[in-house]
Amino acid sequence: MQEIKFERTQNPKQKPADQSSLGFGKYYTDHMFIMNYDEGQGWHDPRIIPYSPLTLDPAAMCLHYGQEVFEGMKAYKSDKGEVLLFRPEKNMARMNVSNERLCIPQIDEEFCVHAIKELVKVEQDWIPTQEGTSLYIRPFIIAVDPHVGVHPANHLLFIVILSPVGAYYPEGLNPVKIFVESTYVRAVKGGIGFAKTGGNYAASLKSQDEATKKGFTQVLWLDGVERKYIEEVGTMNVFFVIDDEIITPELQGSILSGVTRMSCIEMLRSWGYKVTERKLSIDEVAKAFDEGRLKEAFGSGTAAVISPIGELCWGEKVMPINDGKIGEISQKLYDNLTGLQWGKLPDTFNWTVKVD
Ligand SMILES: *Cc1c(COP(=O)(O)O)cnc(C)c1O
Repeated sequence: MQEIKFERTQNPKQKPADQSSLGFGKYYTDHMFIMNYDEGQGWHDPRIIPYSPLTLDPAAMCLHYGQEVFEGMKAYKSDKGEVLLFRPEKNMARMNVSNERLCIPQIDEEFCVHAIKELVKVEQDWIPTQEGTSLYIRPFIIAVDPHVGVHPANHLLFIVILSPVGAYYPEGLNPVKIFVESTYVRAVKGGIGFAKTGGNYAASLKSQDEATKKGFTQVLWLDGVERKYIEEVGTMNVFFVIDDEIITPELQGSILSGVTRMSCIEMLRSWGYKVTERKLSIDEVAKAFDEGRLKEAFGSGTAAVISPIGELCWGEKVMPINDGKIGEISQKLYDNLTGLQWGKLPDTFNWTVKVD
């Protein structure tokens, strides 16, 4: 494995004193990981250096054509003081799937997990300890060739930054209001919807902004062709419980394959639930609602883990789900996933990775 050079900061920052107002993405730690890619050399010069602004040529390609990918994961501190990651190898494998689609050279997944662990180890005093808090890990790759011409880059940077984040639900698990988007679309099959890349978020901002102004937390995307089949929610995958079937849209090329989604499916099946990955239309959900068969709906993603949906609005139709309260399955998944992540429950799935 390549050796990671380490340059310690001369100016350590003051860590935020109040862990109850950390929020999300407000604070960054003292160091970052960085390595370069240059055509002919591959990925080289891995190093942990003081967190600092980047110097880029104004013609750097990522600034013009969006050739970039990112990941999102967390480090947790257990009551015993252990530092835990949750399935980090899945994030690095997904990053290579995104890389392939964006014409970005493949990374060495095992080495990148190692680099993330080394960075987290250096910054472990930054991991907050209050209930529900964690250290958010943001690996990303940007194309930096100074060329305002459209072609895949030959020079790139892989960077990892860390941000201590607050509890997503400071007052306990809270159901959200979701707006079913039927004007804008996020992605289409054949596009970049399955890749974790900024372009998908650029496409979503307008819709999210309009929904926020109407009082909704996030939007539910429908497929870009028929505007009929459910895809995912803003930054999360989505599940519906209809009768005794737990349904989540199948991965058909326009939605992201969430690590939380995958873990929910495996966990639910291990408990004996019937989980189906298939096409699910908004009409089927509305019909199930009318017939009293729509029992629960929830989003899944690293930030919130599980986000119960208390109300779904589709045009004029308002669908309160489970009386706007948290469903039994949502609560059980949340308790078990967070229990594993913070090292409170035995890791029977072998999903957590210790940083030591
Ligand atoms: C990151 C992301 C998710 C959730 O993935 P996790 O691996 O569970 O965090 C879902 N949808 C989109 C669009 C995302 O970017």
